[in-house]
Amino acid sequence: MASGGKADDTRCHDITMPNPKRRHSKTRTAKRRTHDALTAAATSLCPQCHEPKAPHRICPHCGYYAGRQVRAVDEE
Ligand SMILES: [Zn+2]
Repeated sequence: MASGGKADDTRCHDITMPNPKRRHSKTRTAKRRTHDALTAAATSLCPQCHEPKAPHRICPHCGYYAGRQVRAVDEE
């Protein structure tokens, strides 16, 4: 690090880190957390077996995708 005025060697070995000067307000914390909510995973119905499945994925129930069997399924 070339920046900084003093050339003391102790700053690299200093165990204390910079700390926030002020506590965040509850409003500021709440504003940040407005974007923290989780959303449920999207589901669609399989056109073959009409079971719920993830969109654009092979159906885990019947193994069909795009109107044809692409994966073997044990119980059927
Ligand atoms: Zn299916």
